[in-house]
Amino acid sequence: MKLVHTIKETRDEITQARREGKIIGFVPTMGALHEGHLTLVKRAREECGFVVVSIFVNPTQFGPSDDLDNYPRTLESDAHKCEQAVVDLIFAPSPAEMYPRGFDTWVEVNGPAEMLEGALRPGHFRGATSVCAKLFNITNPDFTYFGKKDYQQLTVIRKMVRDLNLPMTVVPVDTVRERDGLAISSRNVYLSSVERNAALVLSRALKDVKAVFDSGERRVLTLKRIAESMIAAELMPRIDYVEIVDAETLTPIDEIERPAVLLLAVKIGSTRLIDNIELWREI
Ligand code: AMP
Repeated sequence: MKLVHTIKETRDEITQARREGKIIGFVPTMGALHEGHLTLVKRAREECGFVVVSIFVNPTQFGPSDDLDNYPRTLESDAHKCEQAVVDLIFAPSPAEMYPRGFDTWVEVNGPAEMLEGALRPGHFRGATSVCAKLFNITNPDFTYFGKKDYQQLTVIRKMVRDLNLPMTVVPVDTVRERDGLAISSRNVYLSSVERNAALVLSRALKDVKAVFDSGERRVLTLKRIAESMIAAELMPRIDYVEIVDAETLTPIDEIERPAVLLLAVKIGSTRLIDNIELWREI
């Protein structure tokens, strides 16, 4: 495995791999790697001849009140985990490498990027799509892997790839959870043990709503209220949103007649957690 910090080295390595006829798989991350990230890497390893992981805490997707400075940065142990996962190349650029002086071009997706996280965190998706567009241009992958944990991000990236005809396939990967249901996240380390316990209500609420959906309930308001009341009863949360929306466009719906997704964002203590579950019958 190689660890490189510049765009040029990354391009050189990938050009070489392509010359050898290898399929390129790319997993973009912000580091602090955990089982969620490593599941994406594993999937890439199974499907591709050359696996690239980027580790970059992208400043342009953080808002002024977000935790950019405190975001965990653990390059050494990340590199070790990648080595064990048989990654071929880590691209870990500096902010200056990605955003040199004078940088001023942005990729902005409308539609699904405008609601939910997009409405609450102005500029977040503009930063995420812009950095992904750059990373895709640098790594030129055949397949790129995104977690359903960040369902809206996955939707927005898929739309960008489709709308801009980027020549790659976005592969969605199911959310990886702790044994007790908590969705694995780099932010979970901020939870005290009391908060962590309280946070379990999120995955319990998703599971309960799915069970009621599976038993035939299709009214969005009824399903939403189940999740809201469970969360409100458990702790003193700040619910940013609990919404059931169309799975593809993320637009609001009243009744579930095609694939939908329940998305939630809740602040527990000072830690903001997001989670979701797809609501559709398996066909
Ligand atoms: P991040 O480093 O938080 O930007 O995440 C990088 C990628 O890992 C994104 O595609 C995330 O959706 C994905 N990811 C993060 N946590 C999980 C998880 N628990 N399960 C599956 N994918 C995840």
